[in-house]
Amino acid sequence: MSEPFLSVESVSASYGNISALHEVSLEVATGEIVALLGANGAGKSTTLNVISGLVRATHGHVRFDGEAVDRLSADHIVQRGIIQVLEGREIFRDMSVRENLEMGAYTRKDRAAVAADLDAMCDIFPRLRERIGQRAATLSGGEQQMLATARAMMARPRMILMDEPSMGLAPLVVEQIFDTVRTLNREQGITILLVEQNAKLALSVSSRAYILENGEMVLNGASADLKDDEAVRRAYLGA
Ligand code: ATP
Repeated sequence: MSEPFLSVESVSASYGNISALHEVSLEVATGEIVALLGANGAGKSTTLNVISGLVRATHGHVRFDGEAVDRLSADHIVQRGIIQVLEGREIFRDMSVRENLEMGAYTRKDRAAVAADLDAMCDIFPRLRERIGQRAATLSGGEQQMLATARAMMARPRMILMDEPSMGLAPLVVEQIFDTVRTLNREQGITILLVEQNAKLALSVSSRAYILENGEMVLNGASADLKDDEAVRRAYLGA
């Protein structure tokens, strides 16, 4: 393929003397949804944190849209168009839904387009429109995840990194969240790297997937093939 939109090239990272990633590589093409799977502690969040500049790689490189970004600060990486939706959601709890969405667009000067995007996000997430004046802390877990995702979108990212959007949510709400992931990808052309413990759902929404084990990439392939792979089924799909 032509040069990937995002490439993680042989990246290692550690916390003090605990190694978290060992020469991990992955690629995401423009407009793709790619899943990153693995058990607790495999290094999934660390991989996202290296891409978004929250954790420094000790070895290897990250390239985005043709440029090395692994020496940039987290702020500069956001400016390049990569936004991470953090695990645990990190919304502004004392602000209203509307204020949270506006905060997502704080670096933008195009106020008319911001208002239009806010409206578009409320079309994608009707729950947020119904609760537009409500304090974010009083939203349900699923609504908070919707708000965190919509807030990330308000920055008009080119790529979003989603860290376990299903965490702590009821199955029906998880289905809704994944439906909106598909919608964002299809209607807004957003490229998505998705970290998930719910391998079944992640494989159903992504075109390709990577599997991390103990900080090393052990497998990757088309999601449809991985769904049928005997070892993957036994280890990650409970079958
Ligand atoms: P989970 O699904 O449980 O969130 P994960 O695959 O996202 O797991 P990471 O959070 O990337 O895994 O963690 C990888 C390894 O690095 C783990 O062994 C973890 O204990 C360790 N680790 C993560 N963050 C830190 C930190 N801030 N300080 C020390 N060790 C850390």
